[in-house]
Amino acid sequence: MKIYNTLSKQKEELKTIEPGKVRMYVCGPTVYNYIHIGNARPMIVFDTVRRYLEYKGYEVNYVSNFTDVDDKIIKTAIEEGCDASEISTRFIAECKKDMEGMNVRPATTHPLATQEIPEMLEMVQTLIDKGYAYPSADGTVYFRTRKFAPYGKLSHKKIDDLQAGHREIKVTGSSTKEDDIDFVLWKPKKEGEPAWTSPWCEGRPGWHLECSVMAKKYLGEEIDIHAGGEDLIFPHHENEIAQSEAANGKEFSRYWMHNAFLNIDNKKMSKSLGNFFTVREISEKYDLQVLRFFMLSAHYRSPLNFSADLMEASKNGLERILTAMERLTELEAKAADKELTEDLEPVNALVKKYEEAMEDDFNTADAISAIFELVKLANTSVTEESSKAYVTKVKNTINKLCDVLGIITEKKEELLDSAIEELIAKRQQARKDKNFALADQIRDELAAKGILLKDTREGVKWTRA
Ligand code: AMP
Ligand code: ZN
Repeated sequence: MKIYNTLSKQKEELKTIEPGKVRMYVCGPTVYNYIHIGNARPMIVFDTVRRYLEYKGYEVNYVSNFTDVDDKIIKTAIEEGCDASEISTRFIAECKKDMEGMNVRPATTHPLATQEIPEMLEMVQTLIDKGYAYPSADGTVYFRTRKFAPYGKLSHKKIDDLQAGHREIKVTGSSTKEDDIDFVLWKPKKEGEPAWTSPWCEGRPGWHLECSVMAKKYLGEEIDIHAGGEDLIFPHHENEIAQSEAANGKEFSRYWMHNAFLNIDNKKMSKSLGNFFTVREISEKYDLQVLRFFMLSAHYRSPLNFSADLMEASKNGLERILTAMERLTELEAKAADKELTEDLEPVNALVKKYEEAMEDDFNTADAISAIFELVKLANTSVTEESSKAYVTKVKNTINKLCDVLGIITEKKEELLDSAIEELIAKRQQARKDKNFALADQIRDELAAKGILLKDTREGVKWTRA
């Protein structure tokens, strides 16, 4: 299986540290708002990588963090007049709902930055002890970048070029640094911010530290795959490498995978540019399976431009698969239990084609083409005359290959979020009008579709069963 490694800029054969096991870390979102569909790209892509590795028999330990302390979370908390933890708790819960809708499986562990402070302090101390970090006069602790000789090996930047263009590096408290390219490991508290006691000052960790610490705690000092969006290559992942390798004295991660951006009008979709759609917004218009299918229709290292046309094309493509599966289910129920005489070679050849695509750096676009060919084969070669064994074989094959991509092949009679909200509003009105029979009827109707309502002080909350 070949994986493109940002470190070597080449496709490399996957060789894991422990045979049959993969230790994988994916940088997760900063939780201060609903996730946007740009954030959803790495979630879907690396969930698919995980699923394919499992299909090949690997046991995958998959860790993905939530950054729950950060300037943006603190700013939102101040605006709303609440604690930062209230904001992060709320949006972690919302993010998990979106993940479920996109059929992104929960990670083996989802660590939170705020729960790992003692381990972070330990790593900072180790780096100070080894001469790789230093506290400055105001208590900020910096990483001594120049001391880590391989710095720049991931982003393929030369340290002296960074010096010249240091403005592109985000830093705080720059006046107390030995060198412009040094980055923050620990920073002093500002008024109203969450803070923890440390030997250097009351404060909080720099962003890069959490991933080095959590990867070590949950996966070990050496891991197989580290992944995230391509904007993380520099400085985030470069700094993670510096911290981890300086502290542990071992190669941090064998493979570094980065997804390209999801764009809109050929510009990166991001919260700061304001040109984004949240996953929640998309869920009001489409089943989130369509969003997943859309994301996988391009290779993960190619930029993908979001458009209504492409979403419609994905919806139609998905529909074609689901309709074929529905027909196979019907034919399977009626098919005769006779000897299998059909030729399985074309089916097996397409499975091989699919696997070759996935093993060539997870080319999901070509893998989907192989599924479409299989659907075409199903529509032509499976008839009322087919043996039950053949129908089952074709149906199970399509089902399995879709499942590895996280695509559910059964048609869901699912209500869109907007329709649910509408019914809830109608029920609230009915209760106000004291029409309890209608209110109960709506509740039962929703329950029959797997929507459970809970009356709370803040209003009606709903969940999918
Ligand atoms: P953030 O919350 O900004 O730290 O981002 C969480 C993850 O989403 C990171 O892996 C980012 O690289 C990724 N990401 C953010 N915006 C986009 C985008 N427009 N396209 C693809 N990935 C993105
Ligand atoms: Zn990270």
